[in-house]
Amino acid sequence: MSRLDRLKVSLMALLTVALTSVGSANAVEKKMFGYEYNPATDQVTHYDADEPYVGAPEPLVIKDAFDYLQPWNGRCIEAKMPADKAKLLPCQTSNIKPTMKYHGIQIKGNKWMHLACDEAFKSVMNGGGPFSTVIVQIDDSNNRVMRYWISHNHVTEWVDPTAHGETTCIKQACKELGVFDLGHIRKDNPNLKLPQTCETSHCDLYTSAEPCPMCYSATRWAHINTIYFAATVYDAAAQGVNFGDEPQYAELSLNYEDRPRLGVKCYQCTEDNSLDAFNAYKRGGSIKY
Ligand SMILES: [Zn+2]
Repeated sequence: MSRLDRLKVSLMALLTVALTSVGSANAVEKKMFGYEYNPATDQVTHYDADEPYVGAPEPLVIKDAFDYLQPWNGRCIEAKMPADKAKLLPCQTSNIKPTMKYHGIQIKGNKWMHLACDEAFKSVMNGGGPFSTVIVQIDDSNNRVMRYWISHNHVTEWVDPTAHGETTCIKQACKELGVFDLGHIRKDNPNLKLPQTCETSHCDLYTSAEPCPMCYSATRWAHINTIYFAATVYDAAAQGVNFGDEPQYAELSLNYEDRPRLGVKCYQCTEDNSLDAFNAYKRGGSIKY
């Protein structure tokens, strides 16, 4: 049994105890997101973590391109395809960073990023997508980890193109905490479902690969202010992996009239009731978030 598997088993025991003790079994029942899932393997919450938060890892110092070799664990599974195809898909040993996009933000990893990447690997070995996310909740008064959530990509399993590691992890954390805002969690929030002794806490997000535009936005909508990722969009787009997020980022920067050449048509329609919802929202009693 691997270290991660042992962790999962212990987490399941904690999950069972926590569910019983907080009396909120409905909060993490099997159909939490409208899908059948196994909380032992699909999403994991470590409810009672208590350890100093390491914070941002040290900057990565690269003296020059010829002096630097990125660390790699040597893990390379046996190819499940004919040899002539397998030779075209060798294991990649370093991140692809062809532009200045990552200049100034390159840092070393830590246990949370390692956990996210290991979970992504496990997802693939179970037939799922190669992405995973860990959200860590931190006590603002003493900078200690209170609890954390792990989730991976569920697109194929749930037949849901929006079920990325980040979105499912955010949903899980928000649902269990009972809050919309993971960037500023107040003890006096009457909707808070999980125990909190400090006045405020916040969450950081670790994801095994650079977030797609949807997940970047989901993270920002959750008011998470610190995002760590490992693999780049260029790694995700590599031959044989073929998850191309980069064109989506580029598409968002274009005016709508320039997007049909990318195969997408967007139209702005004029309707007499188009502002009814906004007017009702700002003048009514809806919960503001
Ligand atoms: Zn995504």
